[in-house]
Amino acid sequence: MSLLIVGSVALDTLETPHGRATEVLGGAASYFSIAASFFGPVQLVGVIGNDFPRQELDWFASRGIDLAGVDVRPGKSLRWTGRYHEDMNVRDTLSFEANVFETFAPELPEAYRGAGFVFLGNIAPTLQARVLDQVRAPRLVGADTMNFYIDTARTDLDALLRRVPLLMINDEEARMLSGERNMVRAARRILAMGPESIMIKRGEYGVLHFSSKTVFAVPAYPLEEVFDPTGAGDAFAGGAMGYLANSGDLSPAGIRRAIVYGSVLASFTVEAFGLDRLRTLTREEIDRRYRQFISLTAFDVP
Ligand code: AMP
Repeated sequence: MSLLIVGSVALDTLETPHGRATEVLGGAASYFSIAASFFGPVQLVGVIGNDFPRQELDWFASRGIDLAGVDVRPGKSLRWTGRYHEDMNVRDTLSFEANVFETFAPELPEAYRGAGFVFLGNIAPTLQARVLDQVRAPRLVGADTMNFYIDTARTDLDALLRRVPLLMINDEEARMLSGERNMVRAARRILAMGPESIMIKRGEYGVLHFSSKTVFAVPAYPLEEVFDPTGAGDAFAGGAMGYLANSGDLSPAGIRRAIVYGSVLASFTVEAFGLDRLRTLTREEIDRRYRQFISLTAFDVP
């Protein structure tokens, strides 16, 4: 079934202990779309300026990402600069220039309104709701958010959470949203706010998935070197939603597979700057690492 994503499409400047990349393709929706495109077609909703590199749009299109929902405006694209510390779990935002993103008002092309799977990336909750209002009867809606909106748009976010069956956020956001430090307690509280299930992304510690009846945990793939963690969470979401949309399998086993596929995409993403690793990634490599996850976590009863 078709998969729609709305979110940021940006030009990122990245500084990590391994080096620097200037004005490279970024934005949560870019990571999401490319990761999801390994499983099936994607409908992208976003806004870019007329300075956005043509070859990156061509890359999206070549991967089956529909760009009819991308609004190209006169002006500059969103630019974000992030610097990672020696401990790459810590990151500072050095600059955020919203540019055309400032007045983003997502409008869905008619062909997108029948989307079966929808992912609301971390834009303002009112804009996430506006997108949801335009989709007729989605089978699954997932969403992300961020500290800024938890802090400044809580009423709108609370209203949105009542309409979102699957929330995918990181541990820090889960703490902030719930007021609980412990992830199990945080998840319980968030499930009481509306979502039927929640995937908590914990960076190098992997992912926890909670529903009212189940808990599932997957480690992060053990990598000797993390080059650039940017977008790992978005690639996770893209891999997981991409798998779900393509398989249509929302059973507990299907959701577990999606979480592992998401973890596989996240692990490849951090192996190079920005989206670079995903430029050469193949479905065979994805499936090979998926099987490595099975052996990584399998054990038996003595
Ligand atoms: P993540 O590493 O998951 O936090 O995602 C990083 C991506 O989010 C980068 O590619 C940025 O361009 C994008 N980004 C940074 N700040 C924002 C923001 N306030 N709203 C939307 N996207 C953002």
